[in-house]
Amino acid sequence: MTDMPLSNLGAIDAAHHLHPFSDMKKLNAAGTRIIQRGEGVHIFDNHGRKYLDGFAGLWCVNVGYGRKEIAEAAYRQMQELPYYNTFFGTTTAPATLLAEKIASHTGDKLNRVFFTNSGSEANDTWFRMARVYWKALGKPTKTQVIARKNAYHGSTVAGASLGGMKLMHEQGNLPIEGISHINQPYWYAEGGDLSPADFGLKVARELEEKIDELGEDNVAAFVAEPIQGAGGVIIPPDTYWPEIARICRERNILLVCDEVICGFGRLGSWFGHQHYGVEPDLAPIAKGLSSGYLPIGGVLVSDRVAEVMVEELGGFYHGFTYSGHPVCAAAALENLRIIEEEGLVERVRDDIGPYFAQAWKSLEDHEVVGEAESVGLIGGLQLAADKSTRRRYSSPDDVGTLVRNHCLDNGLVMRATDDRMLASPALIIARSEVDEMVDTLRKGLDHLR
Ligand code: PLP
Repeated sequence: MTDMPLSNLGAIDAAHHLHPFSDMKKLNAAGTRIIQRGEGVHIFDNHGRKYLDGFAGLWCVNVGYGRKEIAEAAYRQMQELPYYNTFFGTTTAPATLLAEKIASHTGDKLNRVFFTNSGSEANDTWFRMARVYWKALGKPTKTQVIARKNAYHGSTVAGASLGGMKLMHEQGNLPIEGISHINQPYWYAEGGDLSPADFGLKVARELEEKIDELGEDNVAAFVAEPIQGAGGVIIPPDTYWPEIARICRERNILLVCDEVICGFGRLGSWFGHQHYGVEPDLAPIAKGLSSGYLPIGGVLVSDRVAEVMVEELGGFYHGFTYSGHPVCAAAALENLRIIEEEGLVERVRDDIGPYFAQAWKSLEDHEVVGEAESVGLIGGLQLAADKSTRRRYSSPDDVGTLVRNHCLDNGLVMRATDDRMLASPALIIARSEVDEMVDTLRKGLDHLR
């Protein structure tokens, strides 16, 4: 779009464009940043300013910007067949081959994929699927879903209800009925005197307490992100996930891992649940599936659920015009080919992930950093007013925003969730770029002294 006149884009944007998750008054006063081009881990704005994107767009550009092969795959498919549906007995080659390719990386039990356009739709899809599954098994009362406070599962009505974001619940009278929230495994802020291991067990066992409260016969599923992303990159203690998996198994409720961020290599495994050694029954995916080049998502469906869908149900009355869109699927296939061919998952696990971990951890010597943890290429850094007592700043939002803005002024895109700084760079980031990212962040932290 470089041939478009960009000089008055800011004014046009202010007049006509409502942005998601943005304070529109402030945005219009300050002016929108116009991003024009991307290459590798860098983006460039309309003034030619270069930024290291420490956030891979929105946790999604896993293979980095500027991959011509993906554009060409989409172009070829668009010329051959721009659209056909996967409803009523038809499919297209890219949709089917993409389902097969995804299933080749999921382990033994997650062998089927239901396609959506986004992570939010993927969450709405499994939410219905879980209820339909239990009903087909003769357990129609198993409808309640347990999720976590401060989780993010999207912006559709079910997605936002499953999520535990207070501000989202306040807008639109959410959550909808049948969803309850337990605590997150956020040891730094909520662990008190417990060790991380004990705290991990304690919050996992809240799931069991909630099942008892609601009645096992009324609970369909528990959902959580392997690492809670938008909530602040909350990395659970090692004790957490095995205990959650045990409870779901013993209490006969479906385990749903939201892989929208953690999927496709971010943790140094194809999927986040593999990193934690657990096996979900359902798993929403999106983002890294196409590295954001085109919108596509889906739900990984285990044999346990799929067999009921196929053998008992007769039909799942659910789907999107663009479920398995052939152009998006072709782009996703090419994206997965790149991830495989360049060994990006292994690179994160064995090379750049450990390098990033050590660089990120080095920030813990800074006086305003309480903790800097990471897994693979996702990192969460806790700002602390007093690190010896784990005391947090009185206005967490302000400190995060201040550091983030300093980073931005110095050419680094970082995200802040309250008093936590989040990193999630493309899986191709070089060691020198990790160093640059950490150095710039350190200088941003200096402003809090
Ligand atoms: N689930 C998780 C864990 C996410 O982080 C997101 C988006 O950030 C979603 C679901 C929603 O995905 P989308 O924005 O594609 O609808």
